[in-house]
Amino acid sequence: MQGNGVYLDYAATSPLDGRVLQAMLPYLREPAGNPSSLHSFGASASEAIEEARGKVAAMIGASPEEVIFTSGGTESDNLGVLGLARANPEKRHVVVSPVEHAAVRECVASLEHEGYEISRLAVDGHGRVDPGDVESALRPDTALVAVMWANNEVGTVEPVEEIAQVCAERGVPLHVDAVQAAGRLPVDTGRVPLSTLALSSHKLYGPQGTGALYVREGVRLAPVVHGGGQERGLRSGTENVAGIVGLGEAARIAGLEREQRVRHERELRDLLIAGVGEIPGVHLRGHPEERLPNNVHLTVEGVESESLVLMLDALGYAVGRGSACASSGHKASPVLLAMGIDEGEAFSAIRITVGKDTSREDVDGFVEAFREAVGRLRDLSPVRQG
Ligand code: PLP
Repeated sequence: MQGNGVYLDYAATSPLDGRVLQAMLPYLREPAGNPSSLHSFGASASEAIEEARGKVAAMIGASPEEVIFTSGGTESDNLGVLGLARANPEKRHVVVSPVEHAAVRECVASLEHEGYEISRLAVDGHGRVDPGDVESALRPDTALVAVMWANNEVGTVEPVEEIAQVCAERGVPLHVDAVQAAGRLPVDTGRVPLSTLALSSHKLYGPQGTGALYVREGVRLAPVVHGGGQERGLRSGTENVAGIVGLGEAARIAGLEREQRVRHERELRDLLIAGVGEIPGVHLRGHPEERLPNNVHLTVEGVESESLVLMLDALGYAVGRGSACASSGHKASPVLLAMGIDEGEAFSAIRITVGKDTSREDVDGFVEAFREAVGRLRDLSPVRQG
C-alpha cells in the first residue's frame, strides 16, 4: 500500500492480497477477451467469470446462479434496494434502519422523493435494531426492508437472522448490506432467509471497484443499469474480468482463513480497547460484544476527530474518522445521532480497524501515539485552557 506508517483503516479499504494479485495478473497482461465474444478469448474470460462466481457463492452458502457481479458495494446496494422496489411497483412503503451506509440510505431517500413512504426504525444506544420493531413496521404495501449485517462505523452486528425470519414469515423482501460482515462473520444465505445481499471486494483484500449482489432464487428484481443484458439482464455492461477474478480469489481465501483471521483480529482489537480505555474521557461506542472482530470506535472528550486523525497520521498511524465514505462533508454521522450520541460528541469520533496484517507491535505503538495525540490536542483546546 502507498502512504506512510501503520495502516489501521481496514474498514475503509484493505490492501490487495498478493495471492489475489497473482490470480488477476493473467487477465491484465494478456489480451482480455470480452466474455460475450464467441471466440476462444471470449470463452476464456467467460470461464474465468464463472469460476469466480462459484467461489463467491461458496463463501456465502449460495448457488452460483444467485451471484450477480457489480462495480462494488455501492452498486450492489443500489441494485438490491432499487431493484426490489421497482420489481414490485404497486408497493410503495419501505422499512429501513437508521444506521445504513450512505449507499442504502441515499437509495431510500431517492425512493422517498419519488413518493414512497419510509419507516425509519429506531436503534438502541449500541446501534442495534429490535426485530420486534421491524415486525411492527411491516404493512401490506411494504416493498422491502433494508437492515445491514454489520455497521461500518461503530462495528455493531445486527440481529439479521431474526429480522430475516420476521420478513420471510410475512413474505416481505429483505436487503442486507454485508460489505463489512463478509469474511469476518459467518455470512450464510442458507441459514438466513434474506432476499438480496451486497458484497464488496476491496473490504476482503480484493481489488477496488468490484462487488457482487446475491439474489435469492425466485426473488424478483428489476435492473438499475440497462444495456446489453449481461449478468442475467440484471447488470448490463462488459464485465470487469480481472476484478471479478480477484473478488473470486479473495472470497475463496476468506472462506479458508476466516476463523484464523478473526482470532487474530479479535485479540488485537481487545488489546487496543484495553490500552486506550486507560485514558480518561475515551469511550468505546457500538456494542461491547456484538461487534465486528476488527472494529474499535471511540469518542474522545475534548478532541475533534479531524485534528486527531491528522495528528495520528503525522505520528505514523492511519485511522478513520466516523465514516470513511462520508468524510468529505462536515456533518455529524447519522449513525451516531441515531444511537443518541449528541452532535458535539459525534464530532469527536474516530474508528480504528485492524486486519490480517496488523501486528501486536502496531497496536502497542498506536496506543502510545494515541495517548500522545490526545494529550497534545487537549492541551491546545481553548475549552480546556478556559
Ligand atoms: N456498505 C458498507 C457497509 C460499506 O462499508 C461500504 C464502503 O465503505 C459500502 C457499502 C460501499 O462499498 P464500495 O466502496 O465497494 O462501493
